[in-house]
Amino acid sequence: MGQIRAADDQAGHGTMSADNGQSIAPGGTIGILGGGQLGRMTAMAAARLGYRCHVYCPDKDAPASHVAAATTVASYDDLAALQAFAQSVDVVTFEFENVPASAGEKLAAWKPTRPDPRVLHLTQQRLREKNFLSSINVPVARYLEVAHKEALPQAVQALGRPCVLKSASFGYDGKGQVRIDPETDLGPVWQSMGGELAILESFVDFQREISVVIARGFDGAMAMYVPVENQHRNHILDTTIAPARITPEIAVKAEAIARHIAQEIKLVGLLAVEMFVTRSGDVLVNELAPRPHNSGHWTIDACNTSQFEQFVRAVCGQPLGSPERHSDAVMKNLVGDEVRDWRAFLSEPAAKLHLYGKTEIRPGRKMGHVTRLSTKTSS
Ligand code: AMP
Repeated sequence: MGQIRAADDQAGHGTMSADNGQSIAPGGTIGILGGGQLGRMTAMAAARLGYRCHVYCPDKDAPASHVAAATTVASYDDLAALQAFAQSVDVVTFEFENVPASAGEKLAAWKPTRPDPRVLHLTQQRLREKNFLSSINVPVARYLEVAHKEALPQAVQALGRPCVLKSASFGYDGKGQVRIDPETDLGPVWQSMGGELAILESFVDFQREISVVIARGFDGAMAMYVPVENQHRNHILDTTIAPARITPEIAVKAEAIARHIAQEIKLVGLLAVEMFVTRSGDVLVNELAPRPHNSGHWTIDACNTSQFEQFVRAVCGQPLGSPERHSDAVMKNLVGDEVRDWRAFLSEPAAKLHLYGKTEIRPGRKMGHVTRLSTKTSS
C-alpha cells in the first residue's frame, strides 16, 4: 500500500475522474490526443474492430488525421476545443504524452481518460519518473537532480565520468541530453541544456538495450510482448530485433519489472518500458512511455494481436488479445531519406512496408518502417 501511495503522491493531486470503468463497445468513438504515426496506426487498428477515432492535435495534415473519422486541429491548452472534443468521444487516450497536465485533468473530469493523467504526469518528467521507479524498488542507473549550473560540477564529481546530463522535461529520441566525458567542459554543457532543471545519470556501459511493451486492462488483466532488442542511431531507434538476444533469466527479470510497474501505476492502456542490460546481467530501467511504442511496431506483422489493437482493447475495456508471436521479426525504421527506397522494400517477399503519409522528408524524421519476418526460433 505504501508503494501505491508513493505513486499517487508523486502524481500530485486527486483528480476528479469521469471514469466509471465502463467498457466501450465497437461503434463507439475513441478520442486520441496527438496526430502522429502512433495515432495513425491506433486508428487503423481501431477501425478494424469497428471503432471510430477522433484525433486532436495542433497540426494540419497530421498522419493520424488521414485515417481518422474526425480531427480537431487546436492547441493542447485550448480548453474550449478540448471540451468540445471530449463531448464528441466515448473515451480519451493519448499517443503523445507531453500534453499539459491541466488539459489531462480537464479531460479526465469530462470523459473516461485512459491511462489516467496521473500516469502522464509521472512519465512527463525524467526526475519524477526516476524517483517513482526508485520508490517502488525498480533498478535504475545512479542519478542526481541538477537544479542549476553551480550544482553540476559537484554532481559530476559524485557520479564520475562518463555520465549523461538530460533535461528533466520533454526529452525524447535523445533530444536534450549530453554525454559528459573526461575532457568535457561543463560550462557549454549546461548552456546546451537550456539552463533548466536537469538530471545527471551515470553512463551505463550496456550490453544491449531492450524494451517490453505491456498492456493492462481495467480489470487488472495483463498481456505482455516478448522483450525486444533496440539499436539506436543518432539517438533515434534504428532497428528492433524480436525477440531480444538475451538469456531466459534476463527475459524473466525484464518481464517482472514491466509487470510490477504496470501494476504500481495502475495502468489502463499500454506501457513501454525501455531498459539497459548491463555487462553483468543486471536490468536497469531507462524510460517509460505510457502508449504504443516504436519498439512495438513489429507486433503488427508478427503477433496475433498488434500493440495498437491491444491498446484499443485496453482503453475500451475489452478483453486483451493474445500477444503471442507467430514469427520472429526485425523492424527497421525508415528515417529521413531512407524512405526513398520504398519501392525496393515493396518487392522484397519477407518485408512488410508501413509508410506514415508524411509528405516532407526531413533528416531525423520517422517516415515509415519495414518489418522483415522469419521463422520463429524459440517459444
Ligand atoms: P533517452 O532519451 O533517455 O531514451 O536516451 C536515448 C538513448 O541514449 C538511449 O536509448 C541510450 O542509447 C542512450 N542513453 C540514455 N541514457 C543513458 C545512460 N545513462 N547511459 C548510457 N546510455 C544512455
